[in-house]
Amino acid sequence: MAVPKRKTSKTRRDKRRSHDAIQFNVALVRCETCAAWKQRHHVCHECGTYRGRKVFDIEEA
Ligand SMILES: [Zn+2]
Repeated sequence: MAVPKRKTSKTRRDKRRSHDAIQFNVALVRCETCAAWKQRHHVCHECGTYRGRKVFDIEEA
């Protein structure tokens, strides 16, 4: 089995991990009903549906 020849330095390790932080804290997907951008696994705020099923009515002001 391949084994690293040298211990990874703190600098190198931390440089590698500099990209590990979650940079997009909300995952956006297109609503399958109205194609608006919505948060993943959330009810669409534009049309009030989730996975094609109506969850609540949109009250227009
Ligand atoms: Zn929608």
